[in-house]
This record gives sequence, C-alpha cells and structure tokens, in this order.
Amino acid sequence: MIEITAEVRAAIDRAAGDMEPAGDEYIEPADGLIHCKKCRGSRQTVVPRFRGSGYFMPRCLCPCQQKGQEERKAMEEQKERMERIKRRKAQGLQDRYLYDYTFANDNGQNPVMEKAHAYVEHWKEAYRDNTGLLLFGDVGTGKSFFAGCIANALLDRDVPVLMTNFPSILNRLTGVFAEDRAAFIASLDDYSLLVIDDLGVERNTEYAMEQMFTVIDSRYRSKKPLIVTTNLKLEKIKNPPDLAHARIYDRILERCAPVLFSGKNFREEGARATKAAAKEIVSKG
Ligand SMILES: [Zn+2]
Repeated sequence: MIEITAEVRAAIDRAAGDMEPAGDEYIEPADGLIHCKKCRGSRQTVVPRFRGSGYFMPRCLCPCQQKGQEERKAMEEQKERMERIKRRKAQGLQDRYLYDYTFANDNGQNPVMEKAHAYVEHWKEAYRDNTGLLLFGDVGTGKSFFAGCIANALLDRDVPVLMTNFPSILNRLTGVFAEDRAAFIASLDDYSLLVIDDLGVERNTEYAMEQMFTVIDSRYRSKKPLIVTTNLKLEKIKNPPDLAHARIYDRILERCAPVLFSGKNFREEGARATKAAAKEIVSKG
C-alpha cells in the first residue's frame, strides 16, 4: 500500500461514502479504510490510478482471512495428496495381499529388514544414483515382504511405485499390437521405482525372454531404480546358462545391489505359528 499523505487521505475520505463495511468490519479512523474487527488488519488498500490522477481503494484480505485461505489451500492439497496416494497404490499394488506388506506388519524377526528401512530412508540418494536391489535367497525367506514394505513406504510418501512380476507383464503383453506393447513397456518407466517380484518363475520361451529383456533393458536405460526378488542362486545369476539370460542378468547385476536372504524360512515359521495357535484353541475347546 502507498503512503497515506494528506492528498491520499483526502481521496479516501471523499470515497468514504461509497464504502460499506460488513458486520465484522469497521472504518479505521487512523487511515479511513475498512479494517477487520477480529485482527484489526486492513481489508482495503490504496492504489494510484494508472495514468491518471486520483486513487482507488480496492478490497484486500486481512491477515486472518489470508491465514484462513492458506489453511483451506493446505487442507485441499493434503486431500489431493491422499487421493493421489490412494490412486497410486491401487495402480502400483495390483495384488491385494501386497497392501499388508508394511513395516507396521513386520514382526521384527528378520534382521535384514533393517536394509529395507535404510533403503526408504535413503530413497533420494537411491533414486539419484539409480541404486536398485537384487533380493535373492530361498523360498519363504521374506524377499517379497521386504520389497513390498519398501513399495508401501514409498507410496505413502507420494512416490510412484509399481510392484509386479513377469507372468503379469507377459500376460499384459499377450495378444497386443507391437506399438501398444512398446507403450506399455515404456509406461513401466514412468514409475520412480519398479519392483519385479519372483524373477525366474516365468516360462523361458524365446518370446518371454525377449520381452523380459526389453523390460529390463528399458528400465536400465531409464536410469531409474529397479528392485528384483528371485529364488535363483546368485551363482546362477552370475553364471547364466545362455546369452539370452546373460544380457538380462548382466543389466540387473550392474544396477542392483545383491542382498542375501538366508537362514530361517519365515513362511514356514508363520505356518507353524498358525498351526500351534490353532492347536491351542482346539485343545482349550
Ligand atoms: Zn482479520
């Protein structure tokens, strides 16, 4: 607002007849303008007329109105963010059970989970440096749970993640025109993190190998991180049986840090616990 000189003040007072303060407003004697009863701030300002003489006194927001507007905007943004996260989860976690793969549901039995927490904590660096993970080890050692926890935690932080597997991808690519296939594979790189669960369970047909290579190669070129889980032995990944496997595994090994899942079979343990609990309930009955 400009300085209220005697000339300006005279203009304000001349216009005063047209000013109509609302119920929560009053005319401030000090400057002759409309103010807010609540915060006593100005709800009117003075602006010189463009290329003319005189002034006009447009309305403006007082501090408490501005605060209210900012709060409404923040609430609106928060709501949009939550809706976006919900949408991204529906898109990124296509299998319902993945919703339960969260840090909150971790029983704390597997020490390797610390690495999942660390990956999420250092996500910015991981993304910047294109650091992926290769989670390998026997069936039921918690690799998918580990990857699912990272996926959920990042999705909750508004990061686009897709957790999928090759059978689903191949299914999606079947009977589709080449250009749609290319578009679909490219769309996988829109996700900041791509998780491919259970590499190695798909059938090794020439077609499947070709599509797998295209997906992995496209990801490799996108310079965005990839997490792969597999029951394959690291030895086998490092010494692939043929060239078709080699060009897929080489790209994975180049970008994904191997993490070994060893020892306990958590799935069996879970099954044992369930059986034990069931037995207890039955014996009590
Ligand atoms: Zn106010």
